[in-house]
Amino acid sequence: MASVLPKQVDVAIIGAGIIGLSTAWALARAGVRVAVFEKGVIAGEQSSRNWGWIRTVGRDPRELPLAMHAIDLWKEIQAQHDVGYRQTGVAYLAETQADMDGYRTWLDKAVGLGVPAQLLDREQLPGLFKTRSARAWIGALHCAVDGVAEPDRATQTIAKLAIAAGAQVFEQTAVRCLDRTGGLASGIMTERGRVAADAVVLAGGAWSRLFCGNAGVSFPQLKVHASVLRTTPVDAGLDLAINGKDFTCRKRADGGYSVSQLGASVADLTPDSIRLCRQFFPAWLSEKKYLKLRVGKRFLDELRMPTRFGANDVTPFEVHRTLDPAPGMKSIGVALDKLKQAFPAFEPAQVAHAWAGFIDVTPDAIPVISGVDGVPGFYLASGFSGHGFGIGPAAGALMADLVQGNSPRVDPHAFRLSRYDKR
Ligand SMILES: Cc1cc2nc3c(=O)[nH]c(=O)nc-3n(C[C@H](O)[C@H](O)[C@H](O)COP(=O)(O)OP(=O)(O)OC[C@H]3O[C@@H](n4cnc5c(N)ncnc54)[C@H](O)[C@@H]3O)c2cc1C
Repeated sequence: MASVLPKQVDVAIIGAGIIGLSTAWALARAGVRVAVFEKGVIAGEQSSRNWGWIRTVGRDPRELPLAMHAIDLWKEIQAQHDVGYRQTGVAYLAETQADMDGYRTWLDKAVGLGVPAQLLDREQLPGLFKTRSARAWIGALHCAVDGVAEPDRATQTIAKLAIAAGAQVFEQTAVRCLDRTGGLASGIMTERGRVAADAVVLAGGAWSRLFCGNAGVSFPQLKVHASVLRTTPVDAGLDLAINGKDFTCRKRADGGYSVSQLGASVADLTPDSIRLCRQFFPAWLSEKKYLKLRVGKRFLDELRMPTRFGANDVTPFEVHRTLDPAPGMKSIGVALDKLKQAFPAFEPAQVAHAWAGFIDVTPDAIPVISGVDGVPGFYLASGFSGHGFGIGPAAGALMADLVQGNSPRVDPHAFRLSRYDKR
């Protein structure tokens, strides 16, 4: 890891999660002088805590071109280092005709975008599972090119690839604020001093709204608390990743399974959720069967958090090096029980470890990957809304295209920040 801060780079990237590092990798490969600044450690937050799914299935159609491009990049990464990337297939299981109808609606759009997903009927499921299921599934939405990777190992590897291509990565280096000259982004002010840059990319995950707000830029983003558990190794015969609605699971490289459920998500009431309630209300309505609302300590914690700071202030970014919330054991315990009921081969599996993370979400549940209007040289790649790991390498490559002024590899229109401008 680099130690002495450079005085000047072409592009400064804030955040060493999969998005910042993938952007750095793409830029460094193009010969751009790039450095990544991380307040904690590489992949300390969402990028090491996720389920590890790399899927097209169920994705917002606006993200599908990125998801398809990401598959090529995952293959390229796996060809160089073992990150556990495997095209195991991903299946969303159905118990009702309403489930199947919903999947059909999605499939009609996805097939038109070249996604090789398909609907399977009851008779085709035993071939998919390779183990007995005790639940009366009537079918599934399945995509054979979808897969999984080991989140921490993958993100660390992308950091290594970026460094090998010439990028510098600085851990324990919080970026306090944006440096501006005559309205232009001209660098960053870190806790270790100033670094001049022609362009600054903010890939700060759950912290991006706070950073943007201090720079006078409005970014509607909230945090959702999500929990996961890992089982002891078990020979369950289930290779593909499965969403059974009240449980999800995917096989890990260590022989255990990462288990959770969509309902293991909690939206805490915070000052921002009040400020942004009009923008987020439609999203909350559509997700409310999976999302629990909670009033607790986070309201006061975030109320007390400073929102304005300068280059010489100790900022929340260095006070909170790594978000490491306690997991909600009840919801993930239920998920493991449901998995065992659905697939009896999981009966011997025990909980080996549990953890949680904060998912950064936007009102329309797709990310921002764009320049910031009104602040030339400032770019935002954030708000991946619980699905940024799978598309991470492609999202970083797209951000790199935009920063360099290259023709973008996929249409970036849906991802512009200005879509939230008040009209
Ligand atoms: C429980 C859970 C399950 C998920 N499952 C999946 C899944 O199966 N598939 C999928 O595709 N996605 C999944 N996701 C979402 C995925 O993990 C995220 O979308 C993705 O990791 C986001 O990457 P990021 O780089 O934007 O953010 P992060 O990984 O959170 O990285 C942001 C980094 O920026 C740093 N930072 C912030 N502000 C500053 C600052 N001022 N100075 C310096 N550093 C700063 C932070 O410390 C952090 O390390 C899941 C997420 C969670 C939490």
